[in-house]
Amino acid sequence: MYSTPLDIKNIKIKDSFWTREQELVRREVIPYQWEILNDRVPEAAPSYCMHNFKAAGMLNKRKHEQGASFKEPVYTFRGFEALPEDPRNPREDEFYGFVFQDSDFSKWIEAVGYSLATHPDKELERIADGAIDIVCAAQLDNGYLDTYYIINGMDRSFHDLRDHHELYCLGHLIEGAISYYNATGKDKLLNAAKRFADHVDSVFGNEEGKIPGYPGHEIAEMALFRLYETTGEEKYRKLAEYFIDKRGEAPLYFDKEHPQPKNQPYKIDYYHQAHIPVRQQNEAVGHAVRAVYLYSGMADMARLTGDKALLNACERLWDSITNEKMYITGGIGGTHMGESFSFPFDLPGDTAYAETCASIGLVFFARRMLQIRADRKYSDVMELALYNGILSGMALDGKSFFYVNPLEVVPEACHKDERKFHVKPVRQKWFGCACCPPNIARLITSLGTYAFTASDDTLFTHLYIGSSLSFNGYDIDIESGLPDTGKVKIVTRSTGGDSPLNLALRIPGWCGDSYQLSGAESADITVKDGYLYISGLKGDNTISLDLKMEAAVVTADNRVTEDIGRCAVVRGPVVYCMESRDNGDALRNIYADTSADIKEITIEDFGFPVTALEIRGARVTFEGSEEYISALYKKAPVRKAEPIDIRLIPYRLWANRGEGEMSVFIGIL
Ligand SMILES: [Zn+2]
Repeated sequence: MYSTPLDIKNIKIKDSFWTREQELVRREVIPYQWEILNDRVPEAAPSYCMHNFKAAGMLNKRKHEQGASFKEPVYTFRGFEALPEDPRNPREDEFYGFVFQDSDFSKWIEAVGYSLATHPDKELERIADGAIDIVCAAQLDNGYLDTYYIINGMDRSFHDLRDHHELYCLGHLIEGAISYYNATGKDKLLNAAKRFADHVDSVFGNEEGKIPGYPGHEIAEMALFRLYETTGEEKYRKLAEYFIDKRGEAPLYFDKEHPQPKNQPYKIDYYHQAHIPVRQQNEAVGHAVRAVYLYSGMADMARLTGDKALLNACERLWDSITNEKMYITGGIGGTHMGESFSFPFDLPGDTAYAETCASIGLVFFARRMLQIRADRKYSDVMELALYNGILSGMALDGKSFFYVNPLEVVPEACHKDERKFHVKPVRQKWFGCACCPPNIARLITSLGTYAFTASDDTLFTHLYIGSSLSFNGYDIDIESGLPDTGKVKIVTRSTGGDSPLNLALRIPGWCGDSYQLSGAESADITVKDGYLYISGLKGDNTISLDLKMEAAVVTADNRVTEDIGRCAVVRGPVVYCMESRDNGDALRNIYADTSADIKEITIEDFGFPVTALEIRGARVTFEGSEEYISALYKKAPVRKAEPIDIRLIPYRLWANRGEGEMSVFIGIL
């Protein structure tokens, strides 16, 4: 029995941990991003996002006024990222920024929609309506809506699916429009998204005269399935299925558009997950964000069609990621070359890519697999990514962000070693390519739709987040101590119906079988795939679930050469790291005594109480007595170990106290 996310309006989150994050996004990130989209933050790289919609709208207006005498712009390529000659004086009729800049608006409006669904805000809604008017004014009469080509010349639209992201922008537009429609009931943007999707449907396909292509950057697939589920219109589902089925057909479609770039350090067909048809894929490859967006769409299709071969491929790809290619933080993408998955077990810490968006995409994939079958192997990873590799992407003030989430940083190397230029030792105000910040905003504002899904008769709790919701004639209040304690309380109150209540509660992998349940004595209890099924509850109940949470030392598979002889320290779903601020520089000299007790302490360095850890260890150095060739090398080394207490903080909080070294993995003493 498949499950679906609850209506976001039905979930009121009141959580000791996540409410702070949601409020940060609502009060700081969403208003800040609106300023960014309008280029009003002087210290941040300009976005040009709303500028482009206005420029396209102006052209569109001129076209309507001038009729047949309007001279269509003729396309000239001005770079993957176009910047004004004079940055202080951008021309009002030109396109600037990355080719996919429109998607920044769509991600913003998606977060706005989720936020309005639970926190009505007339002023924000007024701003959003104004933005929607600007965006819709840019749409062409045939439904096309991508400002890059509207401004630069429509004669080349859909001619470079590999690199030019029109279908990616369509996907984000659909997601944003659905969110805003669900929150406000206003359908102007939804209609614009549908018109763009209708246009794409009319020009793409296997039929004679249509474009036999598919998105270079996936996302339209899962967005179109969502549009189908929102509108009930089959054509959107069929279009998504076409895109998924078409990918991987030989010869590679993108080669028909133009030759592959010379000296490309990675294979373009793997980069796009188009090396073989999707049902034959066994290994997660290529650009990590694109990959997990595709797999999310595949999982939607497997659920909606019952296609077993597709589901099997999704399961294999999930296992490929989580058993061979995922950092302990839930980060994915081991190499900056093509922002891609590397080969199995290649997980370097200091040159990691681990893009924030990729971990977000992993959460999308996990939720979709959970909808098909509740198994904690999916929800454990979803929780891991949320508490670590995703939250690390945003500073505590919500105003600076990481794109890349390394597991080890020596700041000087980031500044001087070109292999690590992609790794930033402190969060950035904004990026020209600003995919990650608005992606965090849309995920955090919609968190409730990841925490819970429901089948006809069972409510699934995948994440423990303090919430109030109603389901099948019951009001349900959940209190959660995570991530500080594993104590969960669930209060259920019948609102008058006589149907029994069935709950499925995830028992996280990090506590194994060490949990205690009370208050559900009258119900039938079974355990399957890491979920505790409590069936047949009646009336009012108070259920307590105590998940044992204690700090633990973890080592990686021996094939991860990077981590041989090293360990990480975790506590529940939270991964910890060392910073030089607490432990001094040269973190590679620090070794942990893995047999020692790990002490939990509360620190106030971040403006609120945080559970930090201390583990006994030593600062180990080797000093030789006699030079070998130069002073750099010495013979007859003697080991010196100075005992220390190693201080560890949650990884998500690193780089919030200035620039310094950081490492998740620690040498084992
Ligand atoms: Zn990103």
